[in-house]
Parts: sequence; structure tokens; C-alpha cells
Amino acid sequence: MTGGVAIVGLGPGDPTLLTESARNALDRAQDLIGYFPYVARVPEREGLVRHASDNRVEVDRARHALTLAASGRRVAVVSGGDPGVFAMAAAVFEAVEHGEPGWRDLAITVEPGITAMLAAAARLGAPLGGDFCALSLSDNLKPWPVVTARLEAVLRADLVIALYNPISSARPWQLGAAFALAATVRAPDTPVMFARAISRPDEAIRVTTLAEAAGAPADMATVVIIGASGTRLISREGRTPFVYTLRSVASAP
Ligand code: SAH
Repeated sequence: MTGGVAIVGLGPGDPTLLTESARNALDRAQDLIGYFPYVARVPEREGLVRHASDNRVEVDRARHALTLAASGRRVAVVSGGDPGVFAMAAAVFEAVEHGEPGWRDLAITVEPGITAMLAAAARLGAPLGGDFCALSLSDNLKPWPVVTARLEAVLRADLVIALYNPISSARPWQLGAAFALAATVRAPDTPVMFARAISRPDEAIRVTTLAEAAGAPADMATVVIIGASGTRLISREGRTPFVYTLRSVASAP
């Protein structure tokens, strides 16, 4: 039996940012499974069956992939960015843990991709040059008090913070609440970066401060980066400043 599941990271959008290994896994696939905008990024070809689905059915999607693979199909499960970062890889392993015993013997591989915060950081300069963390601001999969407790802890730890899933029509106020919390811990002039649709035609980048951040536009395609005490701006006439975070820290807090 040749079936298996490749969990493939498509990168932030531009096809040149897809790894060769990921491209090879997509070329070998007979079935393509994922959230429809990601499935749409993979060119159609003969012999490739596309199963696009809605965003909120991750574990069902994972079970579908494993069932197909167990019947001998070569399946690619696709995610934007990296599939292990707030995406499908964890859903597939959750389905394996709780699913058919035979699924543990399937060939399951993960093809990494460039995650949004790394693509955004590369556009800005080097804002993740010191210690940093990534948080999903979505309270779909965890209670909001857990989000704020984690955010407060990393704010106090002086980490640069990449916020994924900052806002959506169903979660309109959480980002503002996160900035309000940040303002109780960090200085008003702390750099805050909004990186939208990085490497796609509608890419937009804005560099502002914590004091001004609440008014800046953000949407589901935006990753927000909150600087730490070592984050610096290098201004440039008529252009977005370079942003970087010092690798060195002078003294203990
Ligand atoms: N697995 C993806 C993240 C999925 S969560 C990855 O590794 O990038 C979805 C969130 O990722 C979005 O709400 C947004 O915060 C961020 N995101 C994904 N693609 C992006 C892009 N091209 N530019 C900016 N942010 C992006």
C-alpha cells in the first residue's frame, strides 16, 4: 500500500516562497485537502482530486485525510505558512491519537513552510532578532482569560510578541483589549508593526507605536508584532522604517 499523508506548508503566499520539498509533496499527491483558499493556491492538474472545506472543521478534515490514506491514497493536507503553526498538523496528530489504531502506521510527513511572522519580519528588517514568542489571539479554541494571562506573562517577560489571528468579524474587540493590556506593561512609544498579506499582491505594512496602535487597520490576513524594550526603528525618508531588535540585553530587569 502506497498511501500516506503529507502535511504541507504553502508559505505566506508567493509561490517562490514554497520550499522545493513541499512542491515535490504536492506533485506526488492524489488528493488535496484543506481550507478552500489554500487548496485554491495549488494549481489544478489531472489526477489530483481537490477537497476544499470550510475553516472550522479541522479535525473532520484530518480524519478524512487519514481515511483516504488508509485506503491507499497519497494525500496532501495544506495549510498557509507553516502547517505546524496554528494550523493543520496538530489537528492531524490529534486525529491520529484518538482515531483508528492502524492510522499510527501510516506514512505521515510534515513539510515546513515559512510562517507569517518570519515573512513579516523579513519585510520589516529583524524585529524578531532577540527573544520572541507567537500567540494566537483567537478565543475559538481557548478561553479569552487564557489568552490574556499568557499575553500578560510574555509582556512582562519583555519578549517581542507576534500575534496571529488578531481580529475577525466574529472577534472584533480582542485586539483592542490586547493593546490596552500591553499599554499597562510597555512604554507608549513601543514599536507595533502591522504586516498584512505578506508576499501577496495586496501586501501592506504599517509601523506605528503602542500609543497609536488601536487606530491602525488590521484584519484576518494581518500578523501584528509588538516590540520589546530592545526593538529599534531606523527611519528612512518617505519609506517604512527598518525595524530590528537588539540581540543583546544589557542587564537583568
Ligand atoms: N499556519 C499559518 C498561520 C495560520 S493562523 C502560518 O504559519 O503563517 C492565520 C493567521 O496567520 C492570520 O490571521 C494572520 O495573523 C497570519 N497570516 C497568515 N498568512 C499571512 C500573511 N501572508 N501575511 C500576514 N499574516 C499572515
